[in-house]
Order: sequence, then C-alpha cells, then structure tokens
Amino acid sequence: MKRALNFSPGPAVLPMSVLEETSQAVLDYNGLGMSVMEMSHRSKEYDALFVETQNDTLKLMGLSPDEYTVLFLGGGASLQFIMLPMNFLHKKADYVNTGEWASKAIKEAQFVGECNVVASSKEANFTYIPKDIKFNADADYIHITTNNTIYGTAYKNLPDTGSVPLVSDMSSDIFSRPRDFSRFSLIYAGAQKNIGPAGVTLVVIKKSFLDTAKTTAPTMLKYKTHVDAGSMFNTPPCLATYVVGRTLKWIMAQGLEAVEANNIKKANYLYDIFDAYPDFYKGTVKDKADRSLMNITWNLPTPELEDKFIKEAKAKYGMLNLKGHRSVGGMRASVYNACPMDWVQTLAKFMEEFMKENK
Ligand SMILES: *Cc1c(COP(=O)(O)O)cnc(C)c1O
Repeated sequence: MKRALNFSPGPAVLPMSVLEETSQAVLDYNGLGMSVMEMSHRSKEYDALFVETQNDTLKLMGLSPDEYTVLFLGGGASLQFIMLPMNFLHKKADYVNTGEWASKAIKEAQFVGECNVVASSKEANFTYIPKDIKFNADADYIHITTNNTIYGTAYKNLPDTGSVPLVSDMSSDIFSRPRDFSRFSLIYAGAQKNIGPAGVTLVVIKKSFLDTAKTTAPTMLKYKTHVDAGSMFNTPPCLATYVVGRTLKWIMAQGLEAVEANNIKKANYLYDIFDAYPDFYKGTVKDKADRSLMNITWNLPTPELEDKFIKEAKAKYGMLNLKGHRSVGGMRASVYNACPMDWVQTLAKFMEEFMKENK
C-alpha cells in the first residue's frame, strides 16, 4: 500500500499497526462475529477494552487510579474550553495566552467569570512562551497550553504555579514525552493529533480537584456526571476510543522516554536545517528553548517560494499538508509520534535540495 507522507496537523498520521488492527476490528472484533462499531457499549467485551484504555492512560502518566480518573468524551478539546470554567471557575482563573487555542479557551472562560490573562505572547504573534509568570495565589486554577499547534511553540519546563491547581490543554503533545503529570489537576486532549482519530477527547481529572467542582452545571456539562458513570453516562465515542486504546498500547510498547528520544531526533532533522541556513529557512519560534517537537513552523524568503516548495514537495516525494495554518501562513510540518523517521529525513533532504536550487 502506498502511504502519502502526510504532515497534517490533525487529524494526523496514525501508526500503521494501529490502522491494521482497527481495520480488522471494524470487520470483526476478537472473533465475536461483529464489528467493534456494532457492539453495545454496555457489553462486557466493550467495557473491558474501555476500562483497559482508561487504566493504560493512567499507567502512561504514572498516576494512581485512587487519585485520578479518566474520561473519554465527545465535543473535542473545544468543548473543554467551556466545560472547565463551568465546573471550576468559582471566582477567578488565570490563563496564559500562547496562541489561537489558548485564546479560544480564554474567550469561553470569560463567559463564566473573571478570567485573568496573566501572561501573553500575542504582541509578538505568539512566537515565544512567556517566562517568569506571576500567577494569582488565590486563583481557582491556572490554564496553560503545553504545545501550540499553530505557532510551533511548547513549554520545555512547566511554570512554577505554587499550590494553585494546574490545568492544561495537551491536545497536540500528549504522550510525546515524559512529563510530571502529577503536577496537573486536569488534563484534556482532543485525540486527533497524537493518540487517535477525531471524535474523542481525553480528560484526566484529579479526584480531590473534582471535589471542588461547582454543582450548577447542566447534567452533560458536569464532569461529575461522567465520572460517576465511568465515562458512560451516555454512549461514548466507541470506535474512536478503541483506536486510542490501540495507540496507547503502541506507545506503551516503546515507553515515553524512547518516544521522546525519537521525537527529538525527528525534530532536529528540521531544526538543524533552520540553524544551518537561517537566511533561507526562517524558523518562526524566537527562542530555541520554546521549539515544539510536534509542529515545526518556518517561512521561506517569499510567499512565492513557499507555494513552489509545497508544490514540489508533493510532486517529487508525495509530501502533503506542509502549509502553515490559514491564520499565520508560512510552512508547518507536524511530526507527531506516529510520523515515521524516514518521512522527516525525506523532508530534510528535500529542504536541502530546494535551497540549493532556489537560494
Ligand atoms: C486542535 C486543537 C484544539 C481543538 O481541538 P478540537 O478537538 O477540534 O476541538 C484545541 N487545542 C489545541 C492545542 C489543539 O491543537
């Protein structure tokens, strides 16, 4: 089978072995004579795979099921932008604005209560991660976005947030590297960047934080509704969660250290080119320490060269989706966990060729 070299930001590349397992399970799940899409979510077979996927999430995070609970919800990361403040914003919350997704999260929090943007890199078109942030010690929670999909920035180190509960949108870098997940009171991630297909959102909540939730949110928007029902208050995204489960197994077989080492190696193929030819490949991230391992963004000297780059990358090597987000332009290669090393090597090789022919 011919695979396109797909550098899409999301929905994005999945491991080939996961696609193969899924194609089998779509026809017949474990010899039951029915598709994983045809099974009742209340059946013991589906329940077993669902609970195992919840447990695997916590195992990968190094978190205890006594302290944390795992949900697989619909609505995307975008629904979490409003669910989070509806449950946890009592008086005021602190937000760090590091990009378009963070801005959207802020907008939703403002519907609910006082939302303090305690730091922002908006004035510099989100080309860096703010440092030495002063948070409010009496905030209900602090919200960050660990990886900024559109701008190619990421937190290398977590900010010092004291004893205020820390919440993060990890949609585009979840399980791309080890992290001290115990620092977080709530983590959410749309699956379609690094752990599965669109349609399911992972939410991990610290139980002691959940105990502080407001009771006023409507039923479906209340985390407690879903937690109390084992994330099956209503029909969960069954197939999408199955695929997440298979992807987590694929990650666990490698371990997060190995996944990170691989991601660093891949990203450096491209960042080394930026550093070698800074006049031609202009990385958009100001501070090297803020460079994302997942979304790598750059400009060429002119928009005409960028168009030419995209056309030739496709025609010569079948490389797709290298255009930057419509709001920023330029170029972006998304090289999530499942993006094979040789795709990135091919891109790096093409970048060298293209520069020699066009500089
Ligand atoms: C893609 C993305 C989102 C939006 O996710 P949806 O599932 O489409 O709502 C939110 N945050 C980040 C960081 C993203 O990369």
